[in-house]
Amino acid sequence: MCDNNKSVIIIGGGLVGALCACFLAKRGYHIEVYEVREDLRKCKLQRGRSINLALSHRGRRALRTVGLEEEVLKHAIPMKGRLLHNLPHELSSVPYDEQTNQCIYSVSRNLLNEVLLTAAEEYDNVTLTFSCKLVDANLKEGSCVIQNLKTNETIKAKADLIIGADGAYSKLRSQMQKLPLFQYSQTYIEHGYLELSISSKNGHMMIPNHLHIWPRGEFMMIALPNKDGSWTVTLFMALTRFKMLTGREELLKFFESTFPDAIELIGEEDLVEQFFSSPPSHLISIKCYPYHFENRALIIGDAAHAMVPFYGQGMNCGFQDCTLLDQLISQFDGNFDYVLQEFSERRKDDAFAICDLAMYNYKEMRDLVTKPSFRLRKALDNVLYSLFPKYWIPLYNSVSFSEIRYTECLKNREMQNWMITLSLIFLMLMGLSIIVISSWK
Ligand SMILES: Cc1cc2nc3c(=O)[nH]c(=O)nc-3n(C[C@H](O)[C@H](O)[C@H](O)COP(=O)(O)OP(=O)(O)OC[C@H]3O[C@@H](n4cnc5c(N)ncnc54)[C@H](O)[C@@H]3O)c2cc1C
Repeated sequence: MCDNNKSVIIIGGGLVGALCACFLAKRGYHIEVYEVREDLRKCKLQRGRSINLALSHRGRRALRTVGLEEEVLKHAIPMKGRLLHNLPHELSSVPYDEQTNQCIYSVSRNLLNEVLLTAAEEYDNVTLTFSCKLVDANLKEGSCVIQNLKTNETIKAKADLIIGADGAYSKLRSQMQKLPLFQYSQTYIEHGYLELSISSKNGHMMIPNHLHIWPRGEFMMIALPNKDGSWTVTLFMALTRFKMLTGREELLKFFESTFPDAIELIGEEDLVEQFFSSPPSHLISIKCYPYHFENRALIIGDAAHAMVPFYGQGMNCGFQDCTLLDQLISQFDGNFDYVLQEFSERRKDDAFAICDLAMYNYKEMRDLVTKPSFRLRKALDNVLYSLFPKYWIPLYNSVSFSEIRYTECLKNREMQNWMITLSLIFLMLMGLSIIVISSWK
Protein backbone atom coordinates (compact mmCIF):
# COMPACT_ATOMS: atom_id res chain seq x y z
CA MET A 1 0.00 0.00 0.00
CA CYS A 2 1.01 3.61 -0.61
CA ASP A 3 2.91 5.02 2.42
CA ASN A 4 1.43 8.46 2.99
CA ASN A 5 4.03 9.42 5.56
CA LYS A 6 6.61 10.02 2.91
CA SER A 7 8.29 13.40 2.73
CA VAL A 8 9.03 15.28 -0.46
CA ILE A 9 11.08 18.42 -1.04
CA ILE A 10 10.15 20.37 -4.16
CA ILE A 11 12.68 22.87 -5.44
CA GLY A 12 10.91 25.69 -7.28
CA GLY A 13 7.46 27.10 -6.63
CA GLY A 14 6.90 28.08 -10.26
CA LEU A 15 4.04 26.69 -12.34
CA VAL A 16 5.11 23.05 -12.34
CA GLY A 17 6.51 22.94 -8.78
CA ALA A 18 3.35 24.46 -7.30
CA LEU A 19 1.10 22.11 -9.27
CA CYS A 20 3.22 19.10 -8.29
CA ALA A 21 2.85 20.13 -4.63
CA CYS A 22 -0.96 20.00 -5.05
CA PHE A 23 -0.83 16.54 -6.64
CA LEU A 24 1.41 15.06 -3.95
CA ALA A 25 -0.33 16.84 -1.08
CA LYS A 26 -3.59 15.17 -2.14
CA ARG A 27 -1.87 11.87 -1.46
CA GLY A 28 -1.03 12.91 2.08
CA TYR A 29 2.74 13.21 1.55
CA HIS A 30 4.54 15.87 3.58
CA ILE A 31 5.68 18.52 1.15
CA GLU A 32 8.19 21.32 1.54
CA VAL A 33 8.51 23.74 -1.37
CA TYR A 34 11.56 26.01 -1.57
CA GLU A 35 11.31 28.93 -3.98
CA VAL A 36 14.19 31.33 -4.61
CA ARG A 37 11.99 34.32 -5.43
CA GLU A 38 9.82 36.24 -3.04
CA ASP A 39 6.18 35.23 -2.77
CA LEU A 40 4.74 36.67 -5.97
CA ARG A 41 1.39 37.14 -4.27
CA LYS A 42 2.99 39.76 -2.05
CA CYS A 43 5.30 41.60 -4.42
CA LYS A 44 4.79 43.81 -7.45
CA LEU A 45 4.57 42.26 -10.91
CA GLN A 46 8.00 41.16 -12.05
CA ARG A 47 8.95 41.56 -15.68
CA GLY A 48 10.56 38.48 -17.10
CA ARG A 49 9.33 35.53 -19.04
CA SER A 50 6.08 35.69 -20.98
CA ILE A 51 3.31 37.53 -19.16
CA ASN A 52 0.65 35.20 -20.50
CA LEU A 53 0.66 31.63 -21.76
CA ALA A 54 -1.46 29.37 -23.93
CA LEU A 55 -3.09 26.66 -21.84
CA SER A 56 -4.28 23.61 -23.74
CA HIS A 57 -5.66 20.12 -23.18
CA ARG A 58 -2.74 18.48 -21.34
CA GLY A 59 -2.45 21.37 -18.91
CA ARG A 60 -6.20 21.52 -18.36
CA ARG A 61 -6.35 17.82 -17.63
CA ALA A 62 -3.73 18.19 -14.88
CA LEU A 63 -5.53 21.19 -13.38
CA ARG A 64 -8.81 19.27 -13.46
CA THR A 65 -7.28 16.40 -11.49
CA VAL A 66 -6.42 18.73 -8.62
CA GLY A 67 -9.77 20.53 -8.90
CA LEU A 68 -8.42 23.82 -10.30
CA GLU A 69 -9.46 23.80 -13.95
CA GLU A 70 -12.65 25.77 -13.45
CA GLU A 71 -10.97 28.38 -11.27
CA VAL A 72 -8.22 28.92 -13.86
CA LEU A 73 -10.57 29.01 -16.86
CA LYS A 74 -12.60 31.72 -15.14
CA HIS A 75 -9.59 33.99 -15.61
CA ALA A 76 -8.62 32.75 -19.07
CA ILE A 77 -9.54 33.94 -22.56
CA PRO A 78 -10.40 31.36 -25.21
CA MET A 79 -8.49 31.61 -28.50
CA LYS A 80 -10.25 29.67 -31.23
CA GLY A 81 -7.69 30.17 -33.99
CA ARG A 82 -4.79 32.08 -35.43
CA LEU A 83 -5.45 35.54 -36.84
CA LEU A 84 -2.84 36.27 -39.49
CA HIS A 85 -1.75 39.84 -40.22
CA ASN A 86 -0.43 39.57 -43.75
CA LEU A 87 1.19 42.34 -45.78
CA PRO A 88 0.15 44.79 -47.18
CA HIS A 89 -2.92 44.85 -44.95
CA GLU A 90 -4.88 41.62 -45.03
CA LEU A 91 -6.30 39.77 -42.04
CA SER A 92 -7.26 36.10 -42.19
CA SER A 93 -8.53 33.75 -39.53
CA VAL A 94 -7.35 30.14 -39.37
CA PRO A 95 -9.43 28.19 -36.81
CA TYR A 96 -7.63 25.59 -34.71
CA ASP A 97 -10.46 23.11 -34.87
CA GLU A 98 -13.33 23.59 -37.29
CA GLN A 99 -14.90 20.24 -36.40
CA THR A 100 -15.41 20.50 -32.68
CA ASN A 101 -14.47 24.14 -32.03
CA GLN A 102 -11.86 23.35 -29.41
CA CYS A 103 -9.67 26.24 -28.41
CA ILE A 104 -6.60 27.09 -26.41
CA TYR A 105 -6.72 29.62 -23.56
CA SER A 106 -4.65 32.69 -22.85
CA VAL A 107 -3.91 32.83 -19.14
CA SER A 108 -1.77 35.16 -17.05
CA ARG A 109 1.41 33.47 -15.82
CA ASN A 110 1.32 35.29 -12.50
CA LEU A 111 -2.34 34.62 -11.91
CA LEU A 112 -1.93 30.92 -12.66
CA ASN A 113 1.07 30.71 -10.34
CA GLU A 114 -0.89 32.51 -7.62
CA VAL A 115 -3.84 30.12 -7.94
CA LEU A 116 -1.51 27.13 -7.73
CA LEU A 117 0.49 28.43 -4.74
CA THR A 118 -2.69 29.31 -2.85
CA ALA A 119 -4.19 25.89 -3.60
CA ALA A 120 -0.98 24.14 -2.43
CA GLU A 121 -0.90 26.21 0.75
CA GLU A 122 -4.43 25.17 1.63
CA TYR A 123 -3.18 21.64 2.37
CA ASP A 124 -2.01 21.22 5.99
CA ASN A 125 0.79 18.96 4.80
CA VAL A 126 2.41 21.60 2.52
CA THR A 127 4.92 24.24 3.60
CA LEU A 128 5.95 26.93 1.14
CA THR A 129 9.18 28.78 1.89
CA PHE A 130 10.13 31.74 -0.27
CA SER A 131 13.45 33.53 -0.82
CA CYS A 132 15.13 30.17 -0.31
CA LYS A 133 17.55 28.81 -2.85
CA LEU A 134 18.85 25.33 -3.43
CA VAL A 135 22.64 25.70 -3.39
CA ASP A 136 23.78 22.10 -3.12
CA ALA A 137 22.36 18.58 -3.00
CA ASN A 138 23.58 15.18 -1.94
CA LEU A 139 21.53 12.89 -4.13
CA LYS A 140 22.74 9.67 -2.50
CA GLU A 141 21.59 10.71 0.94
CA GLY A 142 18.50 12.62 -0.26
CA SER A 143 19.52 15.90 1.29
CA CYS A 144 19.95 19.42 0.06
CA VAL A 145 21.45 22.65 1.23
CA ILE A 146 19.08 25.59 1.15
CA GLN A 147 20.17 29.18 1.56
CA ASN A 148 17.76 31.73 2.95
CA LEU A 149 18.45 34.84 0.89
CA LYS A 150 16.98 37.17 3.51
CA THR A 151 18.92 35.93 6.53
CA ASN A 152 21.81 34.39 4.62
CA GLU A 153 21.40 31.29 6.80
CA THR A 154 21.85 27.86 5.25
CA ILE A 155 19.96 24.78 6.35
CA LYS A 156 20.28 21.13 5.44
CA ALA A 157 16.94 19.62 4.49
CA LYS A 158 16.27 15.89 4.03
CA ALA A 159 13.37 14.01 2.51
CA ASP A 160 12.46 10.66 0.98
CA LEU A 161 12.31 12.32 -2.43
CA ILE A 162 13.68 15.59 -3.85
CA ILE A 163 11.91 16.95 -6.93
CA GLY A 164 13.62 19.59 -9.03
CA ALA A 165 11.00 21.85 -10.62
CA ASP A 166 13.53 24.65 -10.73
CA GLY A 167 13.31 25.54 -14.38
CA ALA A 168 15.61 25.48 -17.39
CA TYR A 169 18.73 26.37 -15.38
CA SER A 170 17.96 23.77 -12.71
CA LYS A 171 20.44 23.42 -9.87
CA LEU A 172 19.20 19.93 -9.07
CA ARG A 173 19.80 18.86 -12.68
CA SER A 174 23.31 20.31 -12.51
CA GLN A 175 23.96 17.86 -9.64
CA MET A 176 22.61 14.98 -11.74
CA GLN A 177 24.85 16.04 -14.62
CA LYS A 178 27.85 15.05 -12.51
CA LEU A 179 26.63 11.45 -12.41
CA PRO A 180 27.92 8.87 -14.87
CA LEU A 181 25.67 8.07 -17.87
CA PHE A 182 23.60 11.24 -17.51
CA GLN A 183 22.90 12.51 -21.05
CA TYR A 184 22.57 16.24 -21.57
CA SER A 185 22.38 18.59 -24.52
CA GLN A 186 21.32 22.21 -24.84
CA THR A 187 20.73 24.43 -27.84
CA TYR A 188 20.39 28.18 -27.85
CA ILE A 189 18.60 29.22 -31.00
CA GLU A 190 19.84 32.27 -32.87
CA HIS A 191 16.53 34.02 -32.34
CA GLY A 192 15.45 35.84 -29.18
CA TYR A 193 12.27 37.52 -28.03
CA LEU A 194 11.09 40.84 -26.69
CA GLU A 195 7.75 41.61 -25.08
CA LEU A 196 5.70 44.65 -26.02
CA SER A 197 2.16 45.56 -25.12
CA ILE A 198 -1.05 46.86 -26.67
CA SER A 199 -2.82 48.82 -23.94
CA SER A 200 -6.41 48.11 -22.92
CA LYS A 201 -7.25 51.52 -24.48
CA ASN A 202 -6.29 50.16 -27.91
CA GLY A 203 -7.13 46.51 -27.30
CA HIS A 204 -10.59 46.86 -28.84
CA MET A 205 -8.93 47.32 -32.26
CA MET A 206 -7.79 43.67 -32.16
CA ILE A 207 -10.18 40.93 -33.30
CA PRO A 208 -10.91 39.06 -30.05
CA ASN A 209 -10.50 35.36 -29.19
CA HIS A 210 -7.56 34.71 -31.45
CA LEU A 211 -3.84 34.27 -31.19
CA HIS A 212 -2.63 37.02 -33.53
CA ILE A 213 0.41 36.34 -35.71
CA TRP A 214 2.37 38.65 -37.97
CA PRO A 215 4.31 36.01 -39.98
CA ARG A 216 7.25 37.52 -41.84
CA GLY A 217 9.28 34.55 -43.06
CA GLU A 218 12.49 34.93 -41.09
CA PHE A 219 10.83 36.38 -38.01
CA MET A 220 7.37 36.99 -36.52
CA MET A 221 5.36 38.78 -33.92
CA ILE A 222 2.48 37.28 -31.93
CA ALA A 223 -0.11 38.69 -29.52
CA LEU A 224 -2.16 37.02 -26.80
CA PRO A 225 -5.09 38.70 -25.03
CA ASN A 226 -5.19 39.65 -21.34
CA LYS A 227 -8.24 39.81 -19.11
CA ASP A 228 -8.01 43.62 -18.72
CA GLY A 229 -8.40 44.16 -22.49
CA SER A 230 -4.69 44.64 -23.15
CA TRP A 231 -2.61 42.31 -25.37
CA THR A 232 0.86 40.99 -24.76
CA VAL A 233 2.86 41.17 -27.95
CA THR A 234 6.03 39.11 -28.44
CA LEU A 235 8.51 39.81 -31.21
CA PHE A 236 10.64 36.77 -32.13
CA MET A 237 13.60 37.60 -34.33
CA ALA A 238 17.29 36.87 -34.92
CA LEU A 239 19.37 38.44 -32.17
CA THR A 240 21.59 39.99 -34.85
CA ARG A 241 18.56 41.77 -36.30
CA PHE A 242 17.58 43.08 -32.85
CA LYS A 243 21.08 44.51 -32.57
CA MET A 244 20.67 46.45 -35.80
CA LEU A 245 17.74 48.42 -34.39
CA THR A 246 19.74 50.86 -32.33
CA GLY A 247 17.58 53.97 -32.35
CA ARG A 248 14.08 55.36 -32.70
CA GLU A 249 14.40 56.03 -36.42
CA GLU A 250 15.59 52.52 -37.36
CA LEU A 251 12.93 50.96 -35.16
CA LEU A 252 10.05 52.93 -36.66
CA LYS A 253 11.31 52.35 -40.21
CA PHE A 254 11.50 48.63 -39.47
CA PHE A 255 7.97 48.55 -38.06
CA GLU A 256 6.57 50.66 -40.92
CA SER A 257 7.89 48.16 -43.46
CA THR A 258 7.14 44.94 -41.56
CA PHE A 259 4.36 45.49 -38.99
CA PRO A 260 2.67 48.75 -40.11
CA ASP A 261 -0.64 48.10 -38.32
CA ALA A 262 1.16 47.35 -35.05
CA ILE A 263 2.43 50.93 -34.76
CA GLU A 264 -1.06 52.26 -34.26
CA LEU A 265 -2.01 49.34 -32.02
CA ILE A 266 0.97 49.70 -29.68
CA GLY A 267 1.29 53.46 -30.13
CA GLU A 268 4.44 55.08 -31.53
CA GLU A 269 5.77 56.45 -28.26
CA ASP A 270 4.96 53.29 -26.30
CA LEU A 271 6.61 51.17 -28.97
CA VAL A 272 9.88 53.11 -28.78
CA GLU A 273 9.82 53.18 -25.01
CA GLN A 274 8.99 49.50 -24.58
CA PHE A 275 11.40 48.30 -27.25
CA PHE A 276 14.43 49.97 -25.71
CA SER A 277 13.51 49.38 -22.06
CA SER A 278 14.97 45.87 -21.92
CA PRO A 279 17.20 43.70 -24.11
CA PRO A 280 15.76 40.67 -25.95
CA SER A 281 15.80 37.35 -24.08
CA HIS A 282 17.38 34.13 -25.27
CA LEU A 283 15.61 30.88 -26.08
CA ILE A 284 17.00 27.54 -24.99
CA SER A 285 16.02 23.95 -25.70
CA ILE A 286 17.25 21.20 -23.37
CA LYS A 287 17.18 17.45 -23.71
CA CYS A 288 18.49 15.19 -20.99
CA TYR A 289 18.08 11.69 -19.61
CA PRO A 290 17.37 10.06 -17.15
CA TYR A 291 15.12 12.32 -15.13
CA HIS A 292 15.70 10.50 -11.86
CA PHE A 293 18.41 9.31 -9.52
CA GLU A 294 17.66 6.00 -7.80
CA ASN A 295 14.55 6.47 -5.63
CA ARG A 296 15.82 9.79 -4.32
CA ALA A 297 15.55 12.54 -6.91
CA LEU A 298 13.51 13.53 -9.94
CA ILE A 299 13.45 16.52 -12.29
CA ILE A 300 10.24 17.69 -13.98
CA GLY A 301 9.01 20.61 -16.09
CA ASP A 302 11.60 22.86 -17.73
CA ALA A 303 14.30 21.36 -15.51
CA ALA A 304 13.82 18.13 -17.46
CA HIS A 305 12.85 19.42 -20.90
CA ALA A 306 13.01 23.14 -21.57
CA MET A 307 11.77 23.87 -25.07
CA VAL A 308 11.39 26.86 -27.38
CA PRO A 309 7.90 28.33 -26.89
CA PHE A 310 6.49 27.95 -30.40
CA TYR A 311 4.09 25.08 -29.74
CA GLY A 312 2.83 26.61 -26.49
CA GLN A 313 3.58 23.30 -24.80
CA GLY A 314 6.35 23.97 -22.25
CA MET A 315 4.02 24.46 -19.32
CA ASN A 316 1.43 22.02 -20.66
CA CYS A 317 4.09 19.35 -20.95
CA GLY A 318 5.35 20.14 -17.44
CA PHE A 319 1.79 19.85 -16.11
CA GLN A 320 1.49 16.51 -17.89
CA ASP A 321 4.65 15.39 -16.02
CA CYS A 322 2.65 15.88 -12.81
CA THR A 323 -0.25 13.82 -14.19
CA LEU A 324 2.11 11.03 -15.21
CA LEU A 325 3.92 11.06 -11.86
CA ASP A 326 0.59 10.82 -10.08
CA GLN A 327 -0.55 7.92 -12.28
CA LEU A 328 2.70 6.05 -11.70
CA ILE A 329 2.47 6.53 -7.93
CA SER A 330 -0.96 4.86 -8.10
CA GLN A 331 0.29 2.12 -10.40
CA PHE A 332 3.27 1.24 -8.19
CA ASP A 333 1.64 1.90 -4.80
CA GLY A 334 3.98 4.76 -4.08
CA ASN A 335 7.15 2.69 -4.48
CA PHE A 336 9.59 5.35 -5.69
CA ASP A 337 12.06 2.69 -6.94
CA TYR A 338 9.62 1.82 -9.72
CA VAL A 339 7.83 5.15 -10.04
CA LEU A 340 10.95 7.17 -10.85
CA GLN A 341 12.49 4.57 -13.14
CA GLU A 342 9.26 4.27 -15.10
CA PHE A 343 8.84 8.06 -15.23
CA SER A 344 12.20 8.40 -16.99
CA GLU A 345 11.42 5.54 -19.38
CA ARG A 346 7.97 6.83 -20.27
CA ARG A 347 8.84 10.49 -20.57
CA LYS A 348 12.10 10.48 -22.49
CA ASP A 349 10.90 9.97 -26.06
CA ASP A 350 7.86 12.18 -25.58
CA ALA A 351 9.92 15.02 -24.13
CA PHE A 352 12.45 14.77 -26.96
CA ALA A 353 9.59 14.72 -29.51
CA ILE A 354 7.90 17.86 -28.19
CA CYS A 355 11.26 19.69 -28.05
CA ASP A 356 11.66 18.88 -31.78
CA LEU A 357 8.06 19.76 -32.61
CA ALA A 358 8.45 23.11 -30.86
CA MET A 359 11.46 23.90 -33.06
CA TYR A 360 9.52 22.91 -36.17
CA ASN A 361 6.52 25.05 -35.23
CA TYR A 362 8.58 28.25 -35.35
CA LYS A 363 9.02 27.68 -39.08
CA GLU A 364 5.30 26.96 -39.43
CA MET A 365 4.21 30.07 -37.55
CA ARG A 366 6.60 32.59 -39.04
CA ASP A 367 6.68 31.28 -42.60
CA LEU A 368 4.64 28.24 -43.67
CA VAL A 369 1.26 29.65 -42.59
CA THR A 370 1.46 32.14 -45.46
CA LYS A 371 2.17 29.50 -48.13
CA PRO A 372 -0.64 28.16 -50.37
CA SER A 373 0.73 24.61 -49.90
CA PHE A 374 0.24 24.94 -46.13
CA ARG A 375 -3.33 26.15 -46.55
CA LEU A 376 -4.09 23.35 -48.96
CA ARG A 377 -2.73 20.80 -46.51
CA LYS A 378 -4.73 22.35 -43.68
CA ALA A 379 -7.92 22.16 -45.79
CA LEU A 380 -7.20 18.54 -46.68
CA ASP A 381 -6.51 17.71 -43.03
CA ASN A 382 -9.82 19.32 -42.04
CA VAL A 383 -11.80 17.31 -44.60
CA LEU A 384 -10.16 14.03 -43.61
CA TYR A 385 -10.50 14.85 -39.91
CA SER A 386 -14.25 15.43 -40.35
CA LEU A 387 -14.60 12.14 -42.27
CA PHE A 388 -12.37 10.01 -40.01
CA PRO A 389 -12.16 11.83 -36.67
CA LYS A 390 -10.60 8.84 -34.92
CA TYR A 391 -8.00 8.02 -37.56
CA TRP A 392 -6.98 11.32 -39.12
CA ILE A 393 -6.17 13.79 -36.35
CA PRO A 394 -4.14 16.74 -37.66
CA LEU A 395 -0.82 17.31 -35.88
CA TYR A 396 -1.78 20.56 -34.15
CA ASN A 397 -5.00 19.01 -32.85
CA SER A 398 -3.31 15.90 -31.51
CA VAL A 399 -0.67 17.97 -29.71
CA SER A 400 -2.97 20.66 -28.34
CA PHE A 401 -6.35 18.97 -27.94
CA SER A 402 -5.55 15.42 -26.92
CA GLU A 403 -3.41 13.41 -24.55
CA ILE A 404 -1.95 11.29 -27.31
CA ARG A 405 1.73 10.80 -26.55
CA TYR A 406 3.89 13.36 -28.36
CA THR A 407 5.80 10.53 -30.06
CA GLU A 408 2.50 9.16 -31.39
CA CYS A 409 1.51 12.62 -32.65
CA LEU A 410 4.73 12.70 -34.65
CA LYS A 411 4.29 9.14 -35.95
CA ASN A 412 0.71 9.90 -37.01
CA ARG A 413 1.91 12.93 -38.91
CA GLU A 414 4.58 10.88 -40.72
CA MET A 415 2.00 8.25 -41.59
CA GLN A 416 -0.38 10.94 -42.89
CA ASN A 417 2.43 12.43 -45.01
CA TRP A 418 3.08 8.99 -46.47
CA MET A 419 -0.57 8.42 -47.26
CA ILE A 420 -0.84 11.79 -48.99
CA THR A 421 2.33 11.13 -51.01
CA LEU A 422 1.12 7.67 -52.03
CA SER A 423 -2.32 9.04 -52.98
CA LEU A 424 -0.68 11.74 -55.11
CA ILE A 425 1.52 9.16 -56.87
CA PHE A 426 -1.55 6.97 -57.43
CA LEU A 427 -3.53 9.90 -58.87
CA MET A 428 -0.63 10.87 -61.16
CA LEU A 429 -0.33 7.29 -62.43
CA MET A 430 -4.10 7.18 -63.01
CA GLY A 431 -3.94 10.44 -64.93
CA LEU A 432 -1.02 9.23 -67.00
CA SER A 433 -2.79 5.95 -67.79
CA ILE A 434 -5.91 7.82 -68.90
CA ILE A 435 -3.82 10.07 -71.19
CA VAL A 436 -1.92 7.06 -72.65
CA ILE A 437 -5.11 5.00 -73.17
CA SER A 438 -7.05 7.85 -74.77
CA SER A 439 -4.17 8.77 -77.14
CA TRP A 440 -3.74 5.08 -78.07
CA LYS A 441 -7.48 4.77 -78.81
C1 LIG B 1 8.28 33.58 -24.24
C2 LIG B 1 7.74 32.29 -23.70
C3 LIG B 1 6.43 31.95 -23.97
C4 LIG B 1 5.91 30.75 -23.48
N1 LIG B 1 4.62 30.43 -23.78
C5 LIG B 1 4.12 29.25 -23.37
C6 LIG B 1 2.78 28.89 -23.68
O1 LIG B 1 2.06 29.63 -24.34
N2 LIG B 1 2.32 27.69 -23.24
C7 LIG B 1 3.11 26.83 -22.53
O2 LIG B 1 2.63 25.75 -22.18
N3 LIG B 1 4.36 27.16 -22.21
C8 LIG B 1 4.90 28.34 -22.60
N4 LIG B 1 6.17 28.68 -22.26
C9 LIG B 1 6.98 27.74 -21.47
C10 LIG B 1 6.69 27.89 -19.98
O3 LIG B 1 6.96 29.21 -19.59
C11 LIG B 1 7.57 26.94 -19.19
O4 LIG B 1 7.55 25.67 -19.77
C12 LIG B 1 7.08 26.84 -17.74
O5 LIG B 1 7.20 28.09 -17.12
C13 LIG B 1 7.88 25.80 -17.00
O6 LIG B 1 7.50 25.80 -15.67
P1 LIG B 1 8.52 25.29 -14.55
O7 LIG B 1 7.80 25.45 -13.27
O8 LIG B 1 9.06 23.97 -14.95
O9 LIG B 1 9.75 26.29 -14.63
P2 LIG B 1 9.78 27.82 -14.24
O10 LIG B 1 8.53 28.49 -14.66
O11 LIG B 1 11.07 28.35 -14.76
O12 LIG B 1 9.81 27.82 -12.66
C14 LIG B 1 10.95 27.41 -11.96
C15 LIG B 1 10.88 27.99 -10.56
O13 LIG B 1 12.00 27.53 -9.82
C16 LIG B 1 12.59 28.62 -9.12
N5 LIG B 1 14.01 28.29 -8.94
C17 LIG B 1 14.99 28.27 -9.88
N6 LIG B 1 16.16 27.91 -9.34
C18 LIG B 1 15.93 27.70 -8.03
C19 LIG B 1 16.76 27.31 -6.92
N7 LIG B 1 18.07 27.07 -7.07
N8 LIG B 1 16.20 27.18 -5.70
C20 LIG B 1 14.86 27.43 -5.53
N9 LIG B 1 14.04 27.81 -6.54
C21 LIG B 1 14.55 27.93 -7.76
C22 LIG B 1 12.34 29.81 -10.04
O14 LIG B 1 12.40 31.03 -9.33
C23 LIG B 1 10.96 29.51 -10.57
O15 LIG B 1 9.94 30.01 -9.76
C24 LIG B 1 6.72 29.88 -22.71
C25 LIG B 1 8.04 30.23 -22.43
C26 LIG B 1 8.54 31.42 -22.91
C27 LIG B 1 9.97 31.76 -22.63
